[in-house]
Amino acid sequence: MKIDIITIFPEFFRGPLDFGIIRRAREAGLATIEVHDLRAFAHDRHRTVDDRPFGGGEGMVLKPEPIFECIEEMKVAPREGRAVAKESVILLSAQGKRFDQSVATELAALHRIVLICGRYEGVDERVGQHLADLELSIGDYVLSGGELGAAVIADTVTRLIPGALGNEASSRQESFTAQDSARTNGGADSTCGSGGLLDYPHYTRPAEFRGIAVPEVLVNGNHEEIRKWRRRTALEKTLRNRPDLLEEAALSDDDKKLLARITGKDI
Ligand code: SAH
Repeated sequence: MKIDIITIFPEFFRGPLDFGIIRRAREAGLATIEVHDLRAFAHDRHRTVDDRPFGGGEGMVLKPEPIFECIEEMKVAPREGRAVAKESVILLSAQGKRFDQSVATELAALHRIVLICGRYEGVDERVGQHLADLELSIGDYVLSGGELGAAVIADTVTRLIPGALGNEASSRQESFTAQDSARTNGGADSTCGSGGLLDYPHYTRPAEFRGIAVPEVLVNGNHEEIRKWRRRTALEKTLRNRPDLLEEAALSDDDKKLLARITGKDI
C-alpha cells in the first residue's frame, strides 16, 4: 500500500506516523508513506498556493493548479481508471463523508491512496469535483487543516493491512469491526468478537490495584465464562456509550436476551 499525503506543512508528519505499528508496517515494506510539499508546485517565487475567495468573504482558499499538478506528477491513474487501478484520491474536508472503520477497511484493500490536506477556508471546489474521488471528514468538527485527518486515516488504514498487526485476530475483535461470526454462535471468537459493537473491557496485572480487583471471571480460567462476560460487557458498554451502534450490530438471539436483561425490557 502506498499512501501519498499532499500538504503545505510536510514537517507536520515527522512524528505521528513514526511509532509503533505504523512504523513497523513501514519498515516491513507493508506501507510506504510519502509526504509531498504542495509549495513545490507553486508558480511564483513566493511559493503562493492560496488566494482570496471569489465572491468575497473571509480568509484564503487553496488554489487548484498546484494540487492538480502535484497529482499529475505523482502519476496517479486518471480519474476514470482509478477504481480499476485500485487507487483513490481523497480530499480531507469537514464537508466530506464521515470516515469510519468500514471506510478504512475499503481503503485498506487499495494499492494507493492520496490524501489532500486543506488549509485556511478550504480548497477550491474544483479539486473535490474534478480531481478527488471522495471527500472524507474525520468527524463533525472543524480542524484548522487536513493534516491531522490525513494522519488519522493513514494510521487507521495502515494497521488494517494484512501483517501489520502482530496478531491478526486482534483487529477482528476490535470496536466497530463488523463480522458475522457473532451470528453463527460457534467457536471461541463468536460471542466476544465485536460484530459492530464496542470492544469489551481489557485488564492486565496486577489482579488488584489500589484495592480495585479485576473481574473474578477473567482470572478463573473458564473460557466459556470469559467469552460470555466479554460479550455482555461489550453490549453494556455499547448501550451506555454508543446505543446507535446496536441498530446495525450483528446480534445473536443470546445477545438480544442479554440486552433485554440489561435494559430490563424486551427488545
Ligand atoms: N470552511 C471549511 C473549514 C475549513 S478548515 C468548512 O466550514 O467546512 C481547513 C481544512 O481543514 C479543510 O480544507 C480540511 O482539509 C481540513 N478539515 C477541517 N475539518 C475537517 C474534518 N472534520 N475532517 C477532515 N478534514 C478537516
